[in-house]
Order: sequence, then structure tokens, then C-alpha cells
Amino acid sequence: MLLPNTKRILLKLSGEVLMGDQQFGIDPAVVAALAAEVKAAKETGLQICLVIGGGNIFRGMAGAAQGMDRAQADYMGMLATVMNALAMQNALEQLGVQTRVQSAIQMDAVCEPVIRRRAERHLEKGRVVIFAAGVGAPYFTTDSGAALRAAEMKCDALFKGTSVDGVYDSDPKKNASAIRFETVSYDRVLADNLKVMDASAVALCRDNAIPIVVFSIREKGNLARVLAGNGVQTLVQK
Ligand code: UDP
Repeated sequence: MLLPNTKRILLKLSGEVLMGDQQFGIDPAVVAALAAEVKAAKETGLQICLVIGGGNIFRGMAGAAQGMDRAQADYMGMLATVMNALAMQNALEQLGVQTRVQSAIQMDAVCEPVIRRRAERHLEKGRVVIFAAGVGAPYFTTDSGAALRAAEMKCDALFKGTSVDGVYDSDPKKNASAIRFETVSYDRVLADNLKVMDASAVALCRDNAIPIVVFSIREKGNLARVLAGNGVQTLVQK
């Protein structure tokens, strides 16, 4: 196991991975494949909290760059994460995995509000809890939402599944000789502004001693490999 004694994890998936090879939106086949990975992880006995980004549909910063009011655009981004959460809920339940979606923006007709003690109960009953709408406030991201839920749900670690296989000392897309860290400290990530998660999310994990595991969710079976300690990833810790 990569992190021994891990019983409960928060898995954060970037919205981007849900679109597969498309330029935008949700590819149901990709979501189904991701759901299968989550199911396999759950079958190892883990309790799983999920947070999914919204970048495949809308990002507040992109709206603001085109002249929109930033807060207004951010609310649209949060709504995008609810759509992704519902897509993932659908895919998981089609595989027989019980789930609940809890949104930081109340939407009674489609999901529960975030209620920590209720989420706790769901996890104890073996349900996957999908937390949507980030922290429920503009000027944040779902990385911060993930760090916040990981802290309040007392997760043993935050696994960030994204399109790159870890944290590099420089951008691997621009620099062919960029080196991936096996482990790196929170402080180094913050001081060198390494691209892991937003600084506020990293700081929240640091202050609550929650290890962050950054890995690629694009290759099939990678979540299981990383959890088992046979994968490629970067571990961010003290
Ligand atoms: N967002 C926000 N507050 C939050 C979480 C998300 O305002 O607590 C908005 C923000 O505009 C963000 C968008 O929702 O750009 C989508 O989330 P994010 O960019 O984190 O998605 P990801 O990059 O993981 O796909």
C-alpha cells in the first residue's frame, strides 16, 4: 500500500478528465470507466469521498477573461461541478455502487446539501459521497473544495487524479527534461509555486497533515496501482 492504514480517502478528479478526447463536456464512456476505477478502489475496503472539478464545462477565470463578472462566472463553474457529480453518480449507480451527492449550493430537487454528519453516515453505510459545488463560494476552486472536505471528513489522504502523472520541477509539457518528484514537501510546493493544486488547497492540507497524492487518472487501472503502491505518482507531505 502506498499509504499504510488508509481507510478513508478523498479522490479529486479534474473536470477535464471527464471529457476524454472531446474538447468539451462529458464523455459517458469515460465517466463509466472512471466509475469502474472508483468501484474497484471501494472494493478494497476503502471509504471514498469524491470531488469532481468543472473545467470540462466552465471555469470562472475563463469567463472573467472574456469580460464576465468573476463571481458570476465562478457560480457557473460551481454549477458545472454539480452536472459532473450527477454524471458520476449515474455511472457509479449503474455499476451497483450506492452514492449520494452533497452540494455546497443547495439544490434540493437533485441532491442533498452538504451535511457533514450525514455524509459520515453515508460513508459508514458503504456509500460513495460525491461533494459538488466546491466550497460553495466564488474565488475558490474544486481543489480547495477537495482539501476542505478531506479535512472535515477526516480523510487519511487526498488523491488528485489528473492528466499528469505527478508533480514536476518544471512544466513537463514545455520542458522535456522536467523531473518528477517521488515525494515533495508542502513547503517546497508553496515556495516554488509547483503546479499541484492551488496554494490555498495545499496550505489547508499542510495545516491538517493530509498527504496529497498526485497521479494520472488517464491510464486504466492506475488508481488501483497507485493505491497499492505500484503506481507512478508524487506524494506531497511534510
Ligand atoms: N468554483 C468556485 N468555487 C469553488 C469551486 C469551484 O467558484 O469552491 C468554480 C470556479 O469558477 C472554477 C470552476 O468552478 O473554475 C470549476 O472548478 P475547477 O476549475 O476547480 O475544476 P477543475 O479544474 O478541477 O476541472
